[in-house]
Amino acid sequence: MSVMDTETLDWQDSAACREHSNLLFFGEEGESELEKQAREARAKGVCARCPVTEPCLEFAMETNQKYGIWGGLTDKERASLKRRRARARRAS
Ligand code: SF4
Repeated sequence: MSVMDTETLDWQDSAACREHSNLLFFGEEGESELEKQAREARAKGVCARCPVTEPCLEFAMETNQKYGIWGGLTDKERASLKRRRARARRAS
């Protein structure tokens, strides 16, 4: 995917999550930890079949999305990826 794809958001036209409720990716208030884990696993299953995982994840990283599943990663997983990338940049 090119940088342009992330900038224009054209990739969203092909997003597999378009056919699903936002609740699957962002959850709702009062959700238990167990419910959250099950929901996130279902959302990741959709992402695993999505043709635009890469621009989706990069968009979330670039715009610092704090909530939800983007590109198949949770907020904590994206934060971890951000730290790994920062460490890799410092090491190079
Ligand atoms: S990777 Fe997941 S969240 Fe991103 S567009 Fe595809 S289905 Fe939606």
